[in-house]
Amino acid sequence: MAYEYRPAWMEIDLGALAHNYKQLADLYGGTKICAVVKADAYGHGMIPVAKKLHALGVDFFAVATIIEAQTLRAALPDVDILILGYSPIEAADVLIEKNLIQTLYDVEQGKAFHLAGLKHDRPLRVHVKVDTGMRRLGFSANAAGVNAIENLHGLKGLAVEGIYSHFARADEIDASAVHAQGQLFIAVLEALSIRGVTFKLRHICNSAASARFPEYYFDMVRPGIVLYGQPPSEAVALEALELREVMCVKANIAMVKSVDKGDGVSYGHRYHLPETMNIATIPVGYADGLLRGLSGKAHVLVDGEPCPIIGSICMDQCMVAVGEKTPKMGDEVVVLGGNVHPMVSVAAYAKALGTISYEITCQFSLRLHRQYT
Ligand code: PLP
Repeated sequence: MAYEYRPAWMEIDLGALAHNYKQLADLYGGTKICAVVKADAYGHGMIPVAKKLHALGVDFFAVATIIEAQTLRAALPDVDILILGYSPIEAADVLIEKNLIQTLYDVEQGKAFHLAGLKHDRPLRVHVKVDTGMRRLGFSANAAGVNAIENLHGLKGLAVEGIYSHFARADEIDASAVHAQGQLFIAVLEALSIRGVTFKLRHICNSAASARFPEYYFDMVRPGIVLYGQPPSEAVALEALELREVMCVKANIAMVKSVDKGDGVSYGHRYHLPETMNIATIPVGYADGLLRGLSGKAHVLVDGEPCPIIGSICMDQCMVAVGEKTPKMGDEVVVLGGNVHPMVSVAAYAKALGTISYEITCQFSLRLHRQYT
């Protein structure tokens, strides 16, 4: 495919990824790292990202689905791959054959996986999940949950290699919910330990928690968003870490024209120019992931300066007010990210849309060809 003729693309800076990883590895001080690469590495491309991290020493990855796990397995035959989400019982054969680790949070699911392990004469690898407050997946953090985990731990068809939980509110200033969950996790671990049930890998920290609460590192941390250079939230900006944005969307200007004061721009003429000025048409639109809700709320970097997107963002294009500037057709502009200017950062886009950085990086379409540098 002649991607060189598509004047809009995404650059993924694997050097920035390595920089972020090294910062985090220093911070974690030797604690094992499970790199979260689900959802195509938050939109950055799972395979190149995982390969780079593997080259840097990561041998444990987390994905959300069995499809993601199989794709990663084909690229990295020897690493540990934990599936964080639900895999149906019918998936047991594939889980065993591909040497994947499934999250376990239900007794019937556990018994069925155990039978599959016996059938294959090879136990199905699992990490048990405990619900300490997220209310999503996991055994309840109470006596019934502890009993269930103890019973499953003894089944020969299962290799129970780990136990984990997930923080619901680690990206908020107030740490009380984190401590409530952390202490509950410790209580569950202790109750199991008294019964002789122990685990090789205990883990609970996502990005925000791993940067703030070393007391909850246990045996492994599970960072995702920080690897990609994005702070977990506005409140938890993690400035001391000097994260670098890994993703950058760029385009070449399609047209520059002078438009008169009062002229309407784009569909619906929802924007009228306050002055006669130059506007540039950029060949990126909502079908690429430049969401229409950003119309009038975001900027594009033209010649190093943030210029506002004016009028409604179209499916494949948008218009930008460049004022007195006279850029030319073909000039390169930065649409998002790349660590070049706070007004085109992923965080700025997320704020403009009232959402989180995760949603911004995940939703760029594959129409933007990923270039790895
Ligand atoms: N662990 C689990 C279970 C998750 O669902 C996620 C992401 O949503 C992570 C870890 C990584 O979270 P973050 O990207 O905030 O580090």
